[in-house]
Amino acid sequence: MAARCAAECTDTMQPIGLFGGTFDPIHYGHLRTAFELRQLLRLTEVRFLPTGNPPHREHTIANAELRLRMVRAAVAGEPAFTVDDREMRRSGVSYSVDTLAELRAEHPHRSLCLLLGMDAFLGLPHWHRWRELLELAHVVVAHRPGWKAPTQGPLGEIMVDHGTGSIRDLHDRPAGRVYIHAVTQLEISSTELRQLILAGRDPRYLVPDEVRRILLDTQCYSPQT
Ligand code: ATP
Repeated sequence: MAARCAAECTDTMQPIGLFGGTFDPIHYGHLRTAFELRQLLRLTEVRFLPTGNPPHREHTIANAELRLRMVRAAVAGEPAFTVDDREMRRSGVSYSVDTLAELRAEHPHRSLCLLLGMDAFLGLPHWHRWRELLELAHVVVAHRPGWKAPTQGPLGEIMVDHGTGSIRDLHDRPAGRVYIHAVTQLEISSTELRQLILAGRDPRYLVPDEVRRILLDTQCYSPQT
C-alpha cells in the first residue's frame, strides 16, 4: 500500500516537458527554449523526443542515428534534459498522438506539457488526430520570431476553449490547457543551419561545441565531394 501510494504521489509531482522535433540538427534555439520553459513552468524534466520518420517532411538529411547522437551530445551537460528515443525505435511514421498516448499510460496522473514553437503550433491542425493531443497533454507554445498567436479558425477556437494564462493550471491538471509564452528569440533554424554548412560556413556559436564537433567529423550537411 505504502509503495503504491509512493508511486502515485511521485506520478502527480511537477509536470514533465516533452520537446519533439526532427533536430536536423539540434541548435541553441531548441536548447534555450527548453531551458527557459523548464525554469518558467517548473518542469522536473524536459524530455527531447527526436522523430524517427517524420510525417510532415519528405525525409531528414541526417539519419536517425546521427540526429540522436547530436541530441544526446547537446543535452549531456544539463541533468534536467533527457532524451527519449522511442519514436526512432518505432517502425514506420511516428505520430505525436501515439507517443503521447504511450507516455500518458506510463504516467497516468502526471501533468505532461508538449512544448512547441509557434510555427509548429500553427501547423497543429495538420497533425494526425490533433484534437486528441489536448486530452493527453497540455500544449505550451513558445513565441518564435515573426509568428503571431492565432485568433481565428480551429486554433483560435482552441485558444478560447483551452487557453490559459496560469502556470498553476498546468500543475493542477494533467492535460487540456494551452499556454503561450515568449522566450528569448534566437533566430536559428535547422534549415538555415544546414544551408550555412552547405555554403562552407562555420556553425560555431549556433550549436553546442559537442554538436559542432560531430558536424565536422561526419560532414553530414557538407557539400558532397
Ligand atoms: P527546420 O528548419 O528543419 O524546420 P527547426 O529549426 O524548426 O527545423 P525542428 O526540429 O523542426 O527545428 O523543431 C522542433 C521544435 O523546436 C518545434 O516545436 C519548433 O517550433 C521549435 N523551434 C525550432 N527552432 C526554434 C527557435 N529558434 N526558437 C524556438 N523554438 C524553436
